[in-house]
Amino acid sequence: MTSSSTSSSRFPRISTHGVHIRCWCGEGITNFGSSTAENRYRRFYRCQIAKDRKSENHLFKWIDEALLDEIQTVDAKHERVAQGLKKFEERVIENVKSEIARIEDEMTEKLKEKVKLEIEKGMKHKLKIATVAMVVVGAVVGIWNSLAV
Ligand SMILES: [Zn+2]
Repeated sequence: MTSSSTSSSRFPRISTHGVHIRCWCGEGITNFGSSTAENRYRRFYRCQIAKDRKSENHLFKWIDEALLDEIQTVDAKHERVAQGLKKFEERVIENVKSEIARIEDEMTEKLKEKVKLEIEKGMKHKLKIATVAMVVVGAVVGIWNSLAV
């Protein structure tokens, strides 16, 4: 609802922040247009009761100031969210780095074990070949000796 009113303020205005939907008397807030010479057509929030009972102190807030308050509040929230996001990003990067380092260590250890096993397997195989060669040589020498006699 929009109507026109003079902003007579006999009371010191209590500082309020942002856009309100209710006056501290409980009444809903309406926006009005100022008709004073210094603030002509400037919009302000006030409850309907304040308009009718000018002797009482009710919430008063210029709409442009209320909107600036809201922008500042949103800016501050945005800044907090951005900082939170940055911290989260740093934590994720740190976790990924330590996980990569852990996996690298684990893989290096497994690779060392596998290489060791392969070397042992290779040596056993060579040993087997050498054993077979010695048996064959032994047999050949035995045959040779039996033929020579
Ligand atoms: Zn009120």
